[in-house]
Amino acid sequence: MSDALAPPPAASPRLIPALAVAVLLSGLVAVAAFPRIERYFLTEAAERAAATLSLTVEGLNGALRRYAPLPALVAERPDLAALLRQPENTALQARINEDLRQTAYAIGASDVYLMDISGLTLAASSYRKTLSFVGRSFSYRPYFTQALDGGLGRYFALGTTSGERGYFYAAPVEDNARITGVVAVKFTVDGFEETWRAGPATVLVRDLQGVVFMSSRPDWHFRALAPLTDAARARIEAARQYPLSEVTHLPTEITPLSEGAELWSIATPRGEAESYVARTARISDAGWDVTILLPTAPARQQALQMMAIAMLLTLLLVMAAAIYQQRRARLLERMETQRAAQAELEARVTQRTADLNLANRQLQQEVVERRQTEQRLRKTQAELVQAGKLAALGQMSAALSHEFNQPLAAVKSYAENAMTFLDRDRVPEARENVTRISAMTDRMASISKHLRNFARRPQEEVGAVRLDAVIEDALSVMQVRLKQTGAAVDYTPPEGPVWVRGGHVRLQQVVVNLLSNALDAMTHTPAPRVTLRIIARDGAHMLEVRDIGPGIAPEAAETMFDPFFTTKAPGGGLGLGLSISYNIVRDFDGTLEAENAPGGGAVFRLVLPAAAASRAAGTAAG
Ligand code: ADP
Repeated sequence: MSDALAPPPAASPRLIPALAVAVLLSGLVAVAAFPRIERYFLTEAAERAAATLSLTVEGLNGALRRYAPLPALVAERPDLAALLRQPENTALQARINEDLRQTAYAIGASDVYLMDISGLTLAASSYRKTLSFVGRSFSYRPYFTQALDGGLGRYFALGTTSGERGYFYAAPVEDNARITGVVAVKFTVDGFEETWRAGPATVLVRDLQGVVFMSSRPDWHFRALAPLTDAARARIEAARQYPLSEVTHLPTEITPLSEGAELWSIATPRGEAESYVARTARISDAGWDVTILLPTAPARQQALQMMAIAMLLTLLLVMAAAIYQQRRARLLERMETQRAAQAELEARVTQRTADLNLANRQLQQEVVERRQTEQRLRKTQAELVQAGKLAALGQMSAALSHEFNQPLAAVKSYAENAMTFLDRDRVPEARENVTRISAMTDRMASISKHLRNFARRPQEEVGAVRLDAVIEDALSVMQVRLKQTGAAVDYTPPEGPVWVRGGHVRLQQVVVNLLSNALDAMTHTPAPRVTLRIIARDGAHMLEVRDIGPGIAPEAAETMFDPFFTTKAPGGGLGLGLSISYNIVRDFDGTLEAENAPGGGAVFRLVLPAAAASRAAGTAAG
């Protein structure tokens, strides 16, 4: 159980391999997943690029459409045809110059100018500037020739006079259904680029030759994504479109990414590579390819972050699984321990039950043995009782034969003597012998009566009797013997009646017997004296009978209450007095005890339960 209470270890050794596995696993997951995640974020960037691209193209298209009709509108002014008719009219030229300047300002163009059919500029909005267009010829420009052919001239080029990149629109000036000149309007593109630079994407616009002429990155102006063909070079040179010396190669590696999107890797002058997600759309009117570039770095960053999160999640997942597994293992272990403990407990209980059963059986066996022993004991006891009875019978026969044989022998000799005296006619002697025979038979009858008393169960009822009356009666019965022996009686009768439970006659027999034994004991005692005393006790009354004889003989101490035990000389006693007295007292729920008095002599104590006064006082049957 101590295991259950112990706190879990901070970092279990089992977790370390799990951690290693988790790191390895998450690494593998990362390596496997990175290209897909990166691709996902790159595609997302491409979507954003698409949105930016459509906005950019929309802006450019809008501007181009807005500017396209402007040269035709300007060309319709009658002043222009007039100046073309009289080019030397300086006043008119001056007015038109100013007019064109204001027009340029109003429409937001960088230049508005009028050329004659040879391409010579007659009037220009830049007439006041140092690098004025006036007097310059632009016959080499394709827009000029396009306008002369009666169409709308459009062209993109670096201004040869201003050195500014611009988009040129040109329209013919007609005079009586005859083209007499060309009006050109130039717009600079710096405004677009400025707007683009404010946005998150890099924008570049290429012409059909692959030369970048507009870009939010100024260092890419006039760079060609692919090396220029000779024909292209010749065309550029003829139209003086770009300064050829500046048209250099911009090494670009293009790989497709998804539908309409590409990955561009552009080499920098320092030999590094810039990586972009690219989307391109064509403005077919102008023959431009507009490309939006978004750097791949943020997408990569996001992919990396995502991967880090994935790794962390994997790590956490593996760790959680490991911890769960560990907890589970610990729980199983604990359950196993508990199960084992329970099994042990059950085994112990079974063992204990078996022990108890065994003990029970042994106990039962013991009980049986005890019963058998008891039975044997009872049997032995019965045998002993039987033996005791036989012994008592033996004793009794001995006593009886002694008691009867002696008078019988005397009777026989007295009878023989009487016959002899009768034969000799000595009647008086014969009479004396016959009288003695009669006395002998009286004695034998007395013995027989004693025996009958011993055997017979008395008919007398047990009830309340007066102990004081019993004592008075017993003393009067003993009157003659007391006189003969000259023994003094020390007895003070109680003041009132003393009620005890018993039978009057039998109690009197007991008291007579005690007095008789006391007188017997004091045969050789000078000035014999018997002391009687009634002492009240708790719910009982005690009669003490004390003599001053030799006291109870040691051999008599234990057996004096047994029947036929006597220490008296043959003919002196049957040994039944105390035995009969003891049984009588026991019938009355009393006790009879004897001991030697401290001052010499024996003292007998008769205790009887006290009884309520009876109306038939002193008349109870005996
Ligand atoms: P018996 O009087 O016939 O001997 P008892 O049963 O009355 O029979 O008495 C038994 C014995 O108890 C007597 O033999 C005697 O040894 C002893 N005994 C009885 N009373 C006294 C006494 N007062 N003093 C001494 N011994 C006595």
